[in-house]
Amino acid sequence: MEKHKPNIRKQDGATHYFCPKCGNHILSTKNMSQSGEKMNCCPECGQGIDWIGMIIRGGLCAMWPIEINGNLDGPGGLKNYGLFQKTILEVYSYFSNYLMEIYPDGPALYVDNVACNSGYTPITTLVFRKYIIIKLHIDPADPAEKIAFQFAHELTHYVYYIKYGLIKEKADDNEETVCTAASLIYLHDVMPENFTLYNDYVKSLEHAGYRNGAALAEQTGYDFSKLIEKI
Ligand SMILES: [Zn+2]
Ligand SMILES: [Zn+2]
Repeated sequence: MEKHKPNIRKQDGATHYFCPKCGNHILSTKNMSQSGEKMNCCPECGQGIDWIGMIIRGGLCAMWPIEINGNLDGPGGLKNYGLFQKTILEVYSYFSNYLMEIYPDGPALYVDNVACNSGYTPITTLVFRKYIIIKLHIDPADPAEKIAFQFAHELTHYVYYIKYGLIKEKADDNEETVCTAASLIYLHDVMPENFTLYNDYVKSLEHAGYRNGAALAEQTGYDFSKLIEKI
């Protein structure tokens, strides 16, 4: 069943969250206190509720607004779109758990895929000095670990934009190293059966900025919270 974000209404200084299907009241926050819980599904109608990207604490709701190109899910799109979407949201959720408290507000993030090689993909770019677009390069037969490896790298560039602002300088080798290390730590943590393959791949890269990601990931003991101190 597809999950949906809760409906949010602000009233008299409180923020209320409702089931998007039946309107059942799920939780409220006001003046640093919270009543109710983030439930996975509505106890009234069973609708799955998507809390990804929403941290509710002290009456504030923080999030990094994310949208995945919906046109990928259709004719001429990505045959493995379901896997693409699921993997992206899992990586996003992993990052949120570590970073949302430190960086509650992020610019709008749009995730797209480029099927044929246009030269520079995967890539993270700033558009209109306002939005971030991440373009991955995933083929229909590609497995989840490849999607995760590409997206975790690019999402780390996004975190750099949050920390240093949208006017930050172009990524240098040091930033590429941290981004590559983030991908390896994610695999080490979440998809350990695929870690060695990608670790060996990174170690074999010609470009030192990327290659050094393997050593940096190892240096942190594959601890994501240690890596983010390097951002
Ligand atoms: Zn409901
Ligand atoms: Zn990069």
